[in-house]
Amino acid sequence: MTDDERRAGLEAIASEVRGCTRCRLHERRTRAVPGEGHPGTEVVFVGEAPGQTEDRQGRPFVGRAGDLLVRLLGEIGWRREEVFITNIVKCRPPDNRDPEPDEVAACAPFLRRQLETIDPALVVTLGRHSMARFMPGTKIGAAHGTARPADPSIGARHATVYAMYHPAAALRTPAIERQSFEDARGIPRTLEDARRARGAAVSASTEPTAAGRA
Ligand code: URA
Repeated sequence: MTDDERRAGLEAIASEVRGCTRCRLHERRTRAVPGEGHPGTEVVFVGEAPGQTEDRQGRPFVGRAGDLLVRLLGEIGWRREEVFITNIVKCRPPDNRDPEPDEVAACAPFLRRQLETIDPALVVTLGRHSMARFMPGTKIGAAHGTARPADPSIGARHATVYAMYHPAAALRTPAIERQSFEDARGIPRTLEDARRARGAAVSASTEPTAAGRA
């Protein structure tokens, strides 16, 4: 798929998100927040749900947590325009409460289709709700800064998942902020490993079979 085809695919998903009424969160949203970034990126960051600023602007991570995410990316010389940033839930939960399981389930097909379209090598989860989707059964205190192969059912075939704390948690707790910068410094190395793992998995899946077919 070319970047233009990916961009068109992502825009089609975004317009569905903007008109979505699949769960109760649409009733109180100002704007849905589909996600944004470079369609040809190898890295997708997945947060939890839009907050107040995101709900007003229709863009992910543009409030204080977003400022910190930009600084974390800057730590490794990256800019937000170079990656794709989205959330597991695309509309703001009232008073920033945690998303309910049925709201996460209703939104899941959008995230899966975004990941199928981008087909990244690396998915970085921000916070425990996003991590729970991609690394079920893990605890953020133990899993942050670690990577594991992604379950292909998430949409990103052959991807690696890397867990980080949520930037909002880092804003509340200086020790988590320090740890988040350290975890961010692990992203480039994890991306290199993810590229290698992906290359090996792709060539294994396209190797000719004994019958001579791919
Ligand atoms: N927190 C999130 O998880 N996502 C956003 O887009 C903003 C804040």
